[in-house]
Amino acid sequence: MQLAILLVLILIAVLIAPWLIGVAIALAAAYGIYLVVAAVLAGTVLIIAVMWFQIAGGGRRKEKTRVNLTPEDQREQRRHIEAAIAARQAEQFHRNEHTARTMRVEIHDKKKACKFCQVEMAASASRCGNCGKSTT
Ligand SMILES: [Zn+2]
Repeated sequence: MQLAILLVLILIAVLIAPWLIGVAIALAAAYGIYLVVAAVLAGTVLIIAVMWFQIAGGGRRKEKTRVNLTPEDQREQRRHIEAAIAARQAEQFHRNEHTARTMRVEIHDKKKACKFCQVEMAASASRCGNCGKSTT
């Protein structure tokens, strides 16, 4: 059973990297079969690790390309930002306008009573609208 797994691993290693056969033969000649088995196992693990990192790296690269926006996306994003800025400016303008109107209304609404007839009139009026007399 262990031998079968080992053979499959060796087969995978050889299929992935044919030069491993040469390495294995060289190692077999130099040190003996146990070291060859260990070397092949180590090589297989190394190859699997490298493959794993390549897959992971590929995934990262793919993610990076997603982050790297295309010119169209950038244009779209800029349009969104510009729209947001325009919206904020418009909101601010409306708020200012509203404030100005409120202030105007307040000024307009400020009333005073005529010294002569006691009829209410705008604080800014110099002449009473009822009796026509000067307020000053
Ligand atoms: Zn008056």
